[in-house]
Amino acid sequence: MSETLAAGLTRLVADPARVITAPAIVDRLSKDFYWYSPILKRDLESKVGEIAVQPVNVDEVVAIARYAGEHNVPLTVRGAGTGNYGQCIPLHGGIVLDLQLMDKLEEITADGVAVCQPGLRLAVLETEARKLGWELRMYPSTIAKASIGGFLGGGSGGIGSVAHGGLRDFDTVRAFEVVTMEKEPRVVLHEGAAVHEILHCWGTNGILTRIWFALTPAVEWTQFTVAFPTFDEAFLFAKSFAEDRQWTKRLVTVFEWPIPSFFTPVKQVVAQDKTLVLVMIATGQLEALRTSAQAAGGEVTFTGAYIGPRTQPLLSDYTWNHTTLWAMKADPTWTYIQAGFSPANCMEQFRLLKERYGNEILFHIEFMKNGEGVVVPGGIPLVYYTGEDRLNELIAYCREIGVFIANPHVNYLEDGGRFRADNIQLKAKQKYDPRGLLNPGKMISFHPEAQ
Ligand SMILES: Cc1cc2nc3c(=O)[nH]c(=O)nc-3n(C[C@H](O)[C@H](O)[C@H](O)COP(=O)(O)OP(=O)(O)OC[C@H]3O[C@@H](n4cnc5c(N)ncnc54)[C@H](O)[C@@H]3O)c2cc1C
Repeated sequence: MSETLAAGLTRLVADPARVITAPAIVDRLSKDFYWYSPILKRDLESKVGEIAVQPVNVDEVVAIARYAGEHNVPLTVRGAGTGNYGQCIPLHGGIVLDLQLMDKLEEITADGVAVCQPGLRLAVLETEARKLGWELRMYPSTIAKASIGGFLGGGSGGIGSVAHGGLRDFDTVRAFEVVTMEKEPRVVLHEGAAVHEILHCWGTNGILTRIWFALTPAVEWTQFTVAFPTFDEAFLFAKSFAEDRQWTKRLVTVFEWPIPSFFTPVKQVVAQDKTLVLVMIATGQLEALRTSAQAAGGEVTFTGAYIGPRTQPLLSDYTWNHTTLWAMKADPTWTYIQAGFSPANCMEQFRLLKERYGNEILFHIEFMKNGEGVVVPGGIPLVYYTGEDRLNELIAYCREIGVFIANPHVNYLEDGGRFRADNIQLKAKQKYDPRGLLNPGKMISFHPEAQ
């Protein structure tokens, strides 16, 4: 770390303790959950920033951006570091801009829009919103730690997406202010469709400093699990439940056996050798769901109220990409892919995958609504890792049979699955970060302007 960099940053923040030079802390603040992928683990393990700085307001962010620009130093934004693809790992050193102290919830408006700073933890927002009769439309299973800025910068959807779609859908992200990395950094308001220039860009084309995030009226939820003898029975029950508009639901997940056997802290919800369906259902519909599940041949294994992120057991801790974590705890050879199956043809896609790969792939399905309002079986299937070539062959085969794959084993936006074909993200980078200093290397279609 250069002494000059430390001295320069210290002049820009009110408290010098917010400039971090201790190598062990800088290393920690440079990392996320990249190690979920054996390929990224190999490629990113040695990558680290030179220094970290923790601004507390937008003026400090602007000053740090200006300084980085003047000295041609890369700047990589960090929320809580729960991303999976090394999204916030600096590939070329430089400054880690840690926004965890910018965590204010300014207000929740009368029509249910949260106005907040980017470092606000999603669990805090969910808790505060529910006190006022609102709740998050959707959140990642990392709700306890993840920040709203990081969710918008690197996430896509999660619990709630079966009803409200992903972050890109239904105007959930109303607006945000973005600090640019132009020669003279500006704070630019993005509203409506303009949010898509910056949303899910891994901090490569702007720094979110203030966010307007739409909520939904709170519901009294019950967690519910039901086990079925076969994957097909479980999946077909879950699919018809997820698609049927009469049910008010927040989560519909299917775990092929033996995935439930990895959930050691909640053995009470697991039935030996059976596929498990996990649901969050409006409490008023619980008994109707129980009847329906039993009529379909299911064995109800657990019901329990959801009272917010501190609920115990919190079954969302086993869904979305937490499922992979439990599998890796049981056997670190497990890894994952992120998939979107065809609503009409998924049974055939499942059959083809099983025929070719057997239990090298285990189905973990998450239902989510797309932007057209259609509920689709997405998911994060587990893959038993036997080598990079085999993994890439499996991904290629998925694509060949019409399964959409967002590849979580690459460290750049374009193949990560959420890049936009209209190129508005690239155009925003050319405009707001023409020298390519924001999280360099993560948007590979970008080439910096000649100096
Ligand atoms: C166990 C596990 C489960 C997960 N489940 C889900 C899930 O259900 N759904 C889901 O979408 N994701 C999931 N993720 C990924 C991740 O947890 C979420 O996307 C989370 O919202 C990221 O928030 P964070 O604060 O940790 O972001 P970080 O990891 O800190 O950052 C993510 C990206 O956003 C950028 N960024 C951070 N703050 C800003 C900002 N203010 N302005 C611009 N860019 C910024 C960073 O540079 C980085 O590229 C999961 C990850 C794990 C490890």
